[in-house]
Amino acid sequence: TERTLDLRRANEELAAQRDSLEVLSAQLAKESQVKTDLLSMVNHELRTPLTSIITLAQIALDSGNADVEERKSWEEVRKSSSVLLGMINNMLDIARSDAGSMAVSSEIMDLGDIIATAQGTLGPLAINARVTLKTSVAPDVPLVYGDFEKMQRILENLGTNAVKFTASGGVVALSVSVEAETEDVLVQVSDNGIGIAEEDQERIFERFFQVDSSTTRIYGGSGLGLALVREYAVAQGFGISVESELGEGSTFTVRIPKADTVDFSEEDE
Ligand code: ADP
Repeated sequence: TERTLDLRRANEELAAQRDSLEVLSAQLAKESQVKTDLLSMVNHELRTPLTSIITLAQIALDSGNADVEERKSWEEVRKSSSVLLGMINNMLDIARSDAGSMAVSSEIMDLGDIIATAQGTLGPLAINARVTLKTSVAPDVPLVYGDFEKMQRILENLGTNAVKFTASGGVVALSVSVEAETEDVLVQVSDNGIGIAEEDQERIFERFFQVDSSTTRIYGGSGLGLALVREYAVAQGFGISVESELGEGSTFTVRIPKADTVDFSEEDE
C-alpha cells in the first residue's frame, strides 16, 4: 500500500507538471504570435509609408522645382527617413534571425552590381554629410556565389557607418578586389573618419555595443548594424574583419573565399 501511495503521489506530481507545462507552452505560443503580429505590423505600418516618403522626397528633389530652402528640407526628410528605414530593417532582420527564419540563398552575384546599388543608397547620405563617396571594382573580379540581398544589406550597413563616423570633407570608399596570394575576393568599405580603438574592435560586432555608449553620444544608431553584418557574412560562409586606427579611419573587409567564386572554365569540362 505504501508503494501504491508513492505511485499515486508520483502520478499526481506528473499530472501537475504536465499542466504547468501546458500553460507554459500556451503562453509561449501566444507570445510568439504576438511577436509575429508585431513584426508584420512594423513591416506594413512603418516600412511601407517610410518607403513612400523617401520616394516622394526624391521626386520633389528630382523635379528641380524646389528653391534652395525647400531643397534643404526635402534632403533632410529623405535623410531622416532613410536612416529610420535602415534601423527598422535591422530590427526586423535581428528578429527574423532570432526566430530562425533567416533564409540564405546562393545565387551568382556580380559584385559590381552590388557596389552600384550601394552607391545609389549611400550617395544621398554622403552628399548630405559632405563626404566624398568613391567606388572601384578591379577588372579581374570573378562572379561569386552568395545572397544578393544580404550582401546589399552588409554594404548598406558598413557604408552608412562609414559616412556617419566621418567628418565633412572626408572620403568613404567601396571597393572590390582579388587578393593576390589567396585569390579570395575582398569587398572593402573604408573611411578616413574617427577610427575605432583596438580594444573596441572585437566588441563592435556585438549586438547593441556602441563605442562611448555610457557617455553622451553624439551619433545616433541602434548598435545592431554590425551584429547583422557579421551574421549575414557568416551565414554565407564569408569572413568579416576590421582594421582601424583611432583618428585615422577604418577599413571593414568582407572576405569571399576563392571556393565561392564562379569558375566557368571548370563548368565547361
Ligand atoms: P550603430 O547603429 O551604433 O552604428 P553598429 O553596430 O553599426 O551600430 O556599430 C557599432 C558601433 O561601432 C558604432 O556605434 C560605432 O561606435 C562603431 N563603429 C562602427 N563603424 C564605425 C566606423 N566606420 N568608424 C568608427 N566607428 C565605427
